[in-house]
Amino acid sequence: MMKTLQTKWISLLLALCGTSAAIAGAEDNIRAVRRVAADSRGALYTSNRDPLLPSPLMKLPIGSITPRGWLRNMLELESQGMTGRLAELSPWLKFESNAWANKEGKGQRGWEELPYWLKGYGDLGYVLNDEAIIREARKWIEAVLAGQADDGWFGPRDLQKSLEGKPDMWPHMVMLNVLQSHYEHSGDPRVLPFMTRYFKWQLGRPGSDFASGYWPKLRAGDNIESVYWLYNRTGDAWLLDLAKKIHANMADWTSGVGDWHNVNIAQAFREPAVYYMQAKEPKYLDAAERNYQTVMGLYGQFPGGGFAGDENCRPGYGDPRQGFETCGIIEFMHSFEMLAKISGEPLWADRCEEIALNTLPAALTPDLKALHYLTGPNMIQLDRQNKNPGLANGGTLLSYSPYEVYRCCQHNVSHGWPYYAEELWLATADDGLCASLYAASEVKAKVADGTVASIVEETDYPFSDTVRLKLALPKAVRFPLYLRVPRWSGPPEVKINGKAAEVKAEPLSYLVVEREWSDGDTLSLRLPMQVAVRVWKKNKDAVSVDYGPLTFSLKIGERWQRYGGSDAWPELEVFPTTPWNYGLVLNDKDPAKSFEVSRRAGPLAGQPFTPDTAPLLLRVKAKRIPAWRQDALGLVGPLQPSPAKSDEPVETVTLIPLGAARLRIAAFPTIGDGPAAHPWVEPKK
Ligand SMILES: [Zn+2]
Repeated sequence: MMKTLQTKWISLLLALCGTSAAIAGAEDNIRAVRRVAADSRGALYTSNRDPLLPSPLMKLPIGSITPRGWLRNMLELESQGMTGRLAELSPWLKFESNAWANKEGKGQRGWEELPYWLKGYGDLGYVLNDEAIIREARKWIEAVLAGQADDGWFGPRDLQKSLEGKPDMWPHMVMLNVLQSHYEHSGDPRVLPFMTRYFKWQLGRPGSDFASGYWPKLRAGDNIESVYWLYNRTGDAWLLDLAKKIHANMADWTSGVGDWHNVNIAQAFREPAVYYMQAKEPKYLDAAERNYQTVMGLYGQFPGGGFAGDENCRPGYGDPRQGFETCGIIEFMHSFEMLAKISGEPLWADRCEEIALNTLPAALTPDLKALHYLTGPNMIQLDRQNKNPGLANGGTLLSYSPYEVYRCCQHNVSHGWPYYAEELWLATADDGLCASLYAASEVKAKVADGTVASIVEETDYPFSDTVRLKLALPKAVRFPLYLRVPRWSGPPEVKINGKAAEVKAEPLSYLVVEREWSDGDTLSLRLPMQVAVRVWKKNKDAVSVDYGPLTFSLKIGERWQRYGGSDAWPELEVFPTTPWNYGLVLNDKDPAKSFEVSRRAGPLAGQPFTPDTAPLLLRVKAKRIPAWRQDALGLVGPLQPSPAKSDEPVETVTLIPLGAARLRIAAFPTIGDGPAAHPWVEPKK
């Protein structure tokens, strides 16, 4: 009795001190923390090495997590679709003539394309344990490893002087990621010395080399991450000098947004937070959040998790009809995954889910055999015609194609889902595990004293609010299990072995269940989802509708039409077959009450991101706005102020998850009939 009391007191004291140290004894300790602390350096997995700041959360070795459910199906579609078979389509992947595959770095097409593709293709093989993919990726990796020059440079030799005599180090940043994954998967002993030789070469370059070119100087934060990755494995102190040198010379993202190109932002806004691990001054960590807020405040004023950056962000072009490049989507995801680990903050995982679940699926056709350049929240027709100046670039941007018309995205889209699958579970600094992104999966990982725990996660999340975990352990062992409580969640409910546990956790926290876990234990977590309406004041008071992590779009009938390509690899346009120009008629007092949620009967479809298979539907009253029309370019007319007047009859319309809607209206006008309602002005011809 006495001991229990004491344990409780110690637990309380530790909780007050904000520490997450393990409590001795058999008591369950269930608590909530705002962020994962890094009071210690996790002993079980590669963590930041001194003097870098300790890592609160660490990536598990590739292969520890086996995705299941819809995510696995998405990865299998990817393996049978464009990424898995890209060598059939892309001249950039011709092994015999490619400079990346040549021992002397001679040949053609030696830039970002091959590394972009290989970065996700290899990981796709690793997460699916697909031998054929792993073998094919290995062929390229072997060639790269065999092609290092005496000075440490590798790959295409032309790049060594391609920027007015200075080296273009950007494609190498991507190839380093390929090698890191290969090492994490295989433990290949050649990788660390290979990277060491390349970084030694980099260290010998003048600082001005890191300020050269456009892409490399803006994206060199990626280079710094690879330097830290190697440092954590070898401990060579000079690597930190190199990181410092790169940071000091590359574009500045610490004092503000360093550039307005969408992909540059999506991957480089995080750079100060990466450097924070070495610099340790909070201003660096804060700068990543501030960059995000600056960009989203100006250009991300609509749902879906992306921003209006249909090449570069352009003042005056922030309407939800603007697009966000597919490369931007997946680089944003990767940034969020990285920041979740660096900061220990659940918000970054929320942001990752937001864009992954609402925007990435619609960037590709449902069979993952083609993609388009731009995805935005309001897109009512995906044809191949020029949309400039409505969109920044000329030419085809919205129709789906597997070919090199969208060359960067065509190759770079590869790592979106594989990286996501690798980040579902993370190791914690206190030798536990964290469910960071929720999806059906199985994780096998070391906990506590190194005991290997296996956890099967069963869930239809994000289409269901309940996650069931089943543990398998060789012996009873005490460790903390961190469960993310997203920002939209109602009070979470937990059952351990079928028995309700007392839990209290605010949205945007981690629920920590620390106890002695035994073989066969189960935990069920319910994160109550509710309808929520967001108002976009900077976009004419338009509204968007969420249910849990999912945002919803008007369901628009789709007519798919082939305009090019082959039978096996068609290029496709999508045209609407049903009206889309609706404003929502909402309950004034409680807008969320305007919606009726229904669930499609039966098991979850393998590909749930299509209008016909969408597992959740919302119904809501709406009126058409006849003057809201397609413009001469075929884009949806820009939003006008809400509430809008409409004399049309009230109808009931269906909304589907935004990720399932390739034709989409997700930023809606509202309908009003009072004096504040605005007539929708006929656009000028
Ligand atoms: Zn791209």
